[in-house]
This record gives sequence, C-alpha cells and structure tokens, in this order.
Amino acid sequence: MRLLIKGGRIIDPANNLDSIGDVLIVDGKIAEISENIEVQVNKTVDAEGMIVTPGLIDMHVHFREPGYEHKETIATGTRAAAAGGFTSVACMPNTNPINDNQAVCSLIKQKAKEEGVVKVFPIGAVTKGSQGEELAEIGELKEAGVVALSDDGKPISNGEIMRRALEYAQMFNLTIISHAEDLNLAVGGFMHEGYVSTVLGLRGIPSAAEETMVARDIILAELTGSPLHIAHLSTAGSVRMARDAKARGLMVTAEATPHHFTLTDEAVVGYHTATKVNPPLRSSSDRDAILAGLKDGTIDVIATDHAPHAREEKEVEYAYAPNGMVGLETAVPLVVSQLINQGILTWSEAIAKLTVNPARILGLPLGTLSIGSTADVTIIDPQQEAVVDTAKFQSMGKNSAFSGWKLQGWPICTIVDGQIVMQSGKILA
Ligand SMILES: [Zn+2]
Repeated sequence: MRLLIKGGRIIDPANNLDSIGDVLIVDGKIAEISENIEVQVNKTVDAEGMIVTPGLIDMHVHFREPGYEHKETIATGTRAAAAGGFTSVACMPNTNPINDNQAVCSLIKQKAKEEGVVKVFPIGAVTKGSQGEELAEIGELKEAGVVALSDDGKPISNGEIMRRALEYAQMFNLTIISHAEDLNLAVGGFMHEGYVSTVLGLRGIPSAAEETMVARDIILAELTGSPLHIAHLSTAGSVRMARDAKARGLMVTAEATPHHFTLTDEAVVGYHTATKVNPPLRSSSDRDAILAGLKDGTIDVIATDHAPHAREEKEVEYAYAPNGMVGLETAVPLVVSQLINQGILTWSEAIAKLTVNPARILGLPLGTLSIGSTADVTIIDPQQEAVVDTAKFQSMGKNSAFSGWKLQGWPICTIVDGQIVMQSGKILA
C-alpha cells in the first residue's frame, strides 16, 4: 500500500524540517520525503497550500469508558480525535472503575483496538481508586501498558504519598502528571476568584489553590530527582514557577489547554456552563502569562483536557454543573487562530507542542516524520474558515464554549499507520 502526499508544506519539528515537498508512505511507514516524488502509488492526497505534520498527539483526554458511556465511549472519543486531527490520545484514568489495575487498562486497550479510530494510550492512576491514600500497583500498570500516571481530576493531597509516587514512577520510567489543586483552598468555588466572580456572585477559586500545589510538586520533583508534568496550568504564578524550575534544571514539564490560552473568566458572564472547567478560566493577566509561557517554551505541550458530559448534566444551574469542556474538535483551529495567526507561536513551535513534546514526555516513538517511523500524519488547511457547530461534533459531548465561533485553520486529513481515517471532516475508518 503506497500513499503519496503531494506538494504540502511539511513541518516536522523533531527533524527541524519546514519545507515544501512530498511525503511517501509505504506499508504504514514514512518511506521518503523530498521535493518531488514520482512513483506508482495506490492513492495521492493533494496537499498544495496545506500544512503536513506528524500525527498530532493529545496527552490529556477523558474518554468515559468504562463506566460513563452516556458521556463518551472510546469509539466516539477516538472519532472526535480523528476529526480534530489527532492520531494519538492519552486517556486519563478517572473512569468507573478507575484505571488503577491491569484489568481496566487491558479493557481500554482492547476496546481501542476493536472500536478505536486513532491510537489510545492509557494513563494509570497514581493511587488506588485515585483516593490519594495508597499507591496503585505501579509495576503492574507499567506492565499493562500505561504511558504515565495521574490521579487527574483530583490532586494527591498527601505530600508523603506524592513523594513516594514520584520515586516509584521513576523506577518504572513513568512520569507523574500532577493535577495541582489544594482542595481546602478550592472548596465551594465555581469559577476564578476575582472581580468577575464578585460581580456574578459566584464563589471563587483563588489562584493560590493551584499555585501552592505546583510549588509543592516542584519541590518534591527536586527532592526525588523525578520527572513531573503539570497538567492544565492556568495561572501566572504557576507559569513563573515552572519557568524557574526549568531554569534550575529540574525535569519539570507543563501543558496548557486551548480554553485557558483563549478564554478568561469574562466568558463566565452569562453563566454558560460550558465555561465551568477545573482549573477555572482565569484573569486576562493569567492568560497573558500562559501565552508568554507557550512562547518561551515554559509550556511544552498543548493538551485539550477533553471532558465530555451529557447535555442534561450541563443544562443545570452553574453551581451544579460538572466541570469540563470538550476540546478535541476545536483544538487545531484555536491553535491556528489564537496562537499562530496572532504571532504568538510559529507553526513549528505550535506543532512541536502537539507532536514531539508530548511523545517525549510519554516515551512514545511517535510525533515525527522520520524515515522509517510510523506513518501517522495530519494535514491542516491553514486558510479554511468555519463556524464551530457542536451538533456536528463526533464527540457525544457538546459542552464547548466555542460554539458559534468562527475559526481559521482546520484539520482536513488524519492518517493513522498509513491509513486515512478522516478526510474533509468525514470519518473513514
Ligand atoms: Zn483532565
């Protein structure tokens, strides 16, 4: 099987490549990249005027299977990923039951194999039941194939447990992904604590709820010499501490979501529950700090924190709605519209945060177009404009604050192992 992608702008940050040319895929592997390839092929994709990149990786999604299939399944979640240009996703363990053991991990992998459209890499829980009390069987989880460990959705409140987790994870070559939140400081809050929360009369969550835990986790990463990845960083103080940790040579990495680099707490005005996320949408100075952190490399990764909920769960009073927003199908046009077109990031800088950087943190041999590597490829039309229509989402979750937004730069083709799984918005797998 030979597939030729013709005449695109090929951007592969892992190989410092940014040039116009052709990509030849043979039997699911990248076979050749050069200016003009003329060989017999089974299929040609015309990519003139398009951006051709390694398959995008989202290292932070919530697929709700097992346990919450009314919100999302692995089948629908991976279709959303393919529609959004992602060829790989790493799914958080807060399913029901929690992915803290080999059986749940195997089930996710089996389902992904049978019904998945893109690659799914499970993240295991750090503690049993993500209760924060007793470490999960980390060796068993590693053997079952988890690519990282996290109790995401909940912090590991006990510092001693976090210390042991970092030590054990390092032995198994796994990174701990920290959901940094001091529950005592956050309790009872529904949005960012600030001027807007006062005006709206909604109890706020102070930036300190995140920052005190980021500080603790960086200190423990230094104590243990273990890698630490900070999930969905949302405040200026968190960015500053991550920057400082990196400057001191610690193995600290961080991610930001499209909703945190695009929106502020002003979006909560009107009480649309899609804007209720954890950590909350912060102030404009926090958002500016995230943009600066993306620019200077403090923030390594753009991840969606794709968190689908059923319509009836979100169609309640703001205070009662569950946290979370879907993100897979709007991530690429938000990166293009908000970061690239605004001059915050170059194409190459943005693509690195969606390919080689998450691959490195998760230890995956993906995120590159190196010759001989797996032919996961994403093609983006940088000019295409479209209005976000949640009714057309592949995801079962329609909880997006970007509904009705006109965005530019949409993925038009997703290729997994040399097979086209999405073309012009249609899922072909
Ligand atoms: Zn999450």
